[in-house]
Amino acid sequence: MSLNHVRPWRNIYRRKSRQIMVGDVAIGGDAPIAVQTMTNTLTTDVAATVAQVQAAAEAGADIVRVSVPDEASSKALKEIVRESPVPIVADIHFHYKRGIEAAEAGAACLRINPGNIGDEKRVQEVIKAARDHNCSIRIGVNAGSLEKHLLEKYGEPCPKAMVESGLEHIRILEDNDFHNFKISVKASDVFLSAAAYQGIAEATDAPIHLGITEAGGLVSGTIKSAIGLGNLLWMGIGDTIRVSLSADPVEEVKVGYEILKSLGLRHRGVNIISCPSCARQGFDVIKTVEALEQRLEHIKTPMSLSIIGCVVNGPGEALMTDVGFTGGGAGSGMVYLAGKASHKMSNDQMIDHIVEQVEKKAAELDAAAEAAE
Ligand code: SF4
Repeated sequence: MSLNHVRPWRNIYRRKSRQIMVGDVAIGGDAPIAVQTMTNTLTTDVAATVAQVQAAAEAGADIVRVSVPDEASSKALKEIVRESPVPIVADIHFHYKRGIEAAEAGAACLRINPGNIGDEKRVQEVIKAARDHNCSIRIGVNAGSLEKHLLEKYGEPCPKAMVESGLEHIRILEDNDFHNFKISVKASDVFLSAAAYQGIAEATDAPIHLGITEAGGLVSGTIKSAIGLGNLLWMGIGDTIRVSLSADPVEEVKVGYEILKSLGLRHRGVNIISCPSCARQGFDVIKTVEALEQRLEHIKTPMSLSIIGCVVNGPGEALMTDVGFTGGGAGSGMVYLAGKASHKMSNDQMIDHIVEQVEKKAAELDAAAEAAE
């Protein structure tokens, strides 16, 4: 149960956006903030792409994007859509025909900038294909590919130029009476991106796709994304997120979820609270947490687990978690259940035992949630 009524400092007031559908996933309004990623396989390699989509979905991705650079990829897309457990977004650049083909192939959304695909007739054809196939559109403004006239007007990519670019693309869709769209204004610079997102959030009620583009590798990209997306989400801006990392898409999904979990915006799986460890630890905290993270990956039920090296902070943290373990002396520690000290357990059996306790608690929570429905 949310305790935000007694802990108001945790409240986040989400910007009111209109809701659209990407396949069967609602984006915007009061829908949960969706987590996305993108495949990095060759789209024409259907088996590899489907395997990556499935792995991302298993890790919690609500939506997966796939690049569609050529006609062969459009053909492969049809099969990928058929095999995918989640809606597929087709990433299109410049080629209006790819947009039409992707909509026909069953893409749930086209990531395409209507101002960059040629004359009005071409734009209208893509919009018609999207409308005919119940396909939404994401306008994807990127600081690295702003239109020439805006760069001339503003001198360099800046928040105003990015917002203006977004509004120009929006106008094209709205002039064609197409409102089934969301928008992103990404930059690799955290300040530029955050300012552009604040500007676009004020200028439209379209749902917003958040991302810091080309954020970097696993560690640096995670930090950049957590700062950029974290601040925006905290302000209430953002209806779907993609963390861009030079890493496996599954890592992007995990990081996306962790950002949302940190802000209490979404919950999935075991939230492990663990101490950094020090000379006081009664067991090897770091190795134990590494092992538990792997052993508990299959748990999707939102719950919490505290793994604390000693009694300095162990009992206090355990108070707030579903399952806890606190290191003690003589090769054993205390297991906490629902915040209360329950029984002692030896360090060498503790990992198996905690996995068992977490699985048991997850089953209980699932049953309670089912009964409440
Ligand atoms: S909880 Fe104990 S073991 Fe962990 S860092 Fe703090 S003092 Fe060290």
